[in-house]
Amino acid sequence: MGRVLVTRQLPAGGLAPLAGHDLVAPKPDDVPYSSAEMLAMAGEVDAIVSLLTDTIDASLLEAGAAGRLQVVANVAVGYNNIDVAAASRVGIHVTNTPGVLDETTADTAFLLILAACRLAHDAEADLRANRWPGWGINQYLGLDVHGATLGIVGYGRIGRAVARRAAGFSMTVLHHSRRATGEPGYVADLDELLGRCDIVSLHTPLNAETTHLIDARRLALMAPHAVLVNTARGPVVDEAALAEALHSGRLFAAGIDVFEREPEVHPRLLSAPRAVLLPHIGSGSRATRLRMATIAADNVAAVLAGKPPLHPVHI
Ligand code: NAP
Repeated sequence: MGRVLVTRQLPAGGLAPLAGHDLVAPKPDDVPYSSAEMLAMAGEVDAIVSLLTDTIDASLLEAGAAGRLQVVANVAVGYNNIDVAAASRVGIHVTNTPGVLDETTADTAFLLILAACRLAHDAEADLRANRWPGWGINQYLGLDVHGATLGIVGYGRIGRAVARRAAGFSMTVLHHSRRATGEPGYVADLDELLGRCDIVSLHTPLNAETTHLIDARRLALMAPHAVLVNTARGPVVDEAALAEALHSGRLFAAGIDVFEREPEVHPRLLSAPRAVLLPHIGSGSRATRLRMATIAADNVAAVLAGKPPLHPVHI
């Protein structure tokens, strides 16, 4: 039986596969462990069940490897919070939770597509603040989602789940990824895709190549009536540039679930018009979050039983 650090509270029942193991519990009130606390514990546990708010860097992994740490199981499909190269160098497994959150995250992307295109946030804010004078034919005129051209950047599991939803809205779907998919709608050049779409939805991982993938130059390639949706990771978009594009009217609207410096949000984005902003709830349904926790625990249980991890992350 192993000793497992669980860094944050998880949905009830999510750690069932680790029954019998010695669990180092999260801090009360879901306060994250500090980097210093994590570093001090790294060598004294066999496994860490981590969340995307934990920075698992080279020094922590080296301290872990000098002790008994065998596996870091991230309760997320993204793993930009973990130095996977360092983990591989020191022989520690890293795992993620692919596949189980595709549909829920695609639902969130579609929620943002609909809400941003139809200006739902600005309209609701006026209603709640008593600023709605009653029905008017020119009020809150948005962009039709049905029949629009949707560009999916990052045509993997979640991007494809968004495309399936778009079919039900009679949308034309274009997609971009680094490798040609050989499927209809593939656009090799991201700049070209941005110029051809009414709505662009981002679904790439975050890494050095995708940091500020959508910057001021690329925002300027989008049509002035276009809408940007980001449920990938905050730093994929230059948040300050996006805020300026919205303030200036250079971009029609945006739907954003993830931010560059969570939980901070750029003040110019907070005050931007036609922006729907959600606090990183992409995979946040009860069933999906439970499945994510269970899969992370399954990965730890496998490694501690001397078996290969079920969902290894490789660089
Ligand atoms: P996935 O199946 O690995 O798909 C990622 C896609 O991005 C692949 O098609 C990949 O194709 C493409 N890609 C990678 N680098 C690219 C680049 N530089 N330019 C263009 N395309 C690129 O991943 P997934 O499971 O769909 O998840 C995608 C991301 O969503 C995760 O990494 C995570 O950060 C984020 N996410 C967010 C939430 C949330 O709560 N908001 C929830 C779940 C996931 P190529 O390799 O051929 O380029």
